Amino acid sequence: PVVTRIAPSPTGFMHIGTARTALFNWLYARGRGGKFLLRIEDTDRARSTPEATEAILRGMDWLGLDYDGEPVSQFEQGARHAEVANQLLAEGKAYKCFATQDDIEAFREAARATNSSTHYHSPWREVSESEHPDAPYVIRIKAPKEGQTVIKDQVQGDVTIQNSQLDDMILLRSDGTPVYMLAVVVDDHDMGVTHVIRGDDHLNNAARQMMIYEAMGWPLPVYAHIPLIFGPDGKKLSKRHGATGVEEYQHMGYPASGMRNYLARLGWSHGDDEFFTDAQALEWFDLPSIGKSPARFDFKKLENLCGQHIASTENAALLHELQTFLAATGQGGLQDSKISLFASAMPQLKERAKTYGELIDKAHFIMVDRPVSPDEKAAKALDTVSRGILKELTPHLQNASWTRADLEALLNGFAEEKGTKFGQLAAPLRAALAGRAATPSVFDMMLVLGPDETLARIQDAAA
Ligand code: GLU
Repeated sequence: PVVTRIAPSPTGFMHIGTARTALFNWLYARGRGGKFLLRIEDTDRARSTPEATEAILRGMDWLGLDYDGEPVSQFEQGARHAEVANQLLAEGKAYKCFATQDDIEAFREAARATNSSTHYHSPWREVSESEHPDAPYVIRIKAPKEGQTVIKDQVQGDVTIQNSQLDDMILLRSDGTPVYMLAVVVDDHDMGVTHVIRGDDHLNNAARQMMIYEAMGWPLPVYAHIPLIFGPDGKKLSKRHGATGVEEYQHMGYPASGMRNYLARLGWSHGDDEFFTDAQALEWFDLPSIGKSPARFDFKKLENLCGQHIASTENAALLHELQTFLAATGQGGLQDSKISLFASAMPQLKERAKTYGELIDKAHFIMVDRPVSPDEKAAKALDTVSRGILKELTPHLQNASWTRADLEALLNGFAEEKGTKFGQLAAPLRAALAGRAATPSVFDMMLVLGPDETLARIQDAAA
């Protein structure tokens, strides 16, 4: 069975690249009835924070990337990492190195002077236990000196590294703490990870990690190193291009389903398909169709897909999503009266909104309470003449039949009677009903608000 994982370092916010890697791992595992695990790589005690871990958990939750079991803390596995280093030591596959910082510096200086590799070659590799001093030491792996290591990567193809490039890397520091490279391998093995799908900034690490697998006699995972995400200009995605934090997208109101769709397309493709459902992505996702070159983040495309996802979400589900969004962004909950207005407005609102933020903005006429206070533009549309017209309109609306056709006939007839066009009437009506100049259609608003609320708002504005 397939077991994948996402292994973020909790050192700040959750990056969109982490979200994409998590999604790929999730798709790969869930599409194959496998397991998807979460490991928090918190060994760097100075940089890891609980807040960052919380942000990762929130991000995973928002994106709907459910993982199996509890998140694993890498730091908490420290004793196990040391145990593996000591096992390799006992088996003669690693050795104690007593070199001091000065020894290593002297070696490097000499190497630089002769233009040779500055990879440290510890003399302690060949020194037997009986000759060891009583001094602090690190544990180093005995790296192969000849031959080559081939990373059989599902995305990059076969990547060959000359073993002469590999040094006897440290496994355990003199204070007994494991190095990152050891921790990753031991954790992946212990967690039963079969497929390592991660950013290609880790490709070089793979060769060194493979040494540990081989020394322990553990089966290698399948590797898939995916190209990093670039900005529209072809440079590594950064703040300059736009938001890079998952939470920022959540707070801007991008739907999680649209985000998943877009992130899946970021570096992976299935023919010409752009818009797809989770079910389709789960069925289609595979490692060979991950692109070899970096994908460029396309904000327009993200918006387009999100708009399509909003439009195709069922009304009741969408209302639920909106309430979650309002709560997550500290905009409070919706009163029951608003919920029913939203429910009846949803079919119109969801067309053309690319984010929940836009949708709520269009729903401003629902969100506001009486008396509706007009913004500057709307206030201009409510001059003395317009207020007079609204006053005259009121009795006509009092007994109107509240259907679109009848309301259209009524307002057009009224405008004609006043010797003007409906357009002239629309501005004060928008101002009265929504307090704004740009709103959904006047008829849509009237139908959603119903006769009582509509009349009350018009009377407020006309007064
Ligand atoms: N902690 C690493 C990172 O955040 C991931 C390591 C891995 O996936 O093997 O880049």
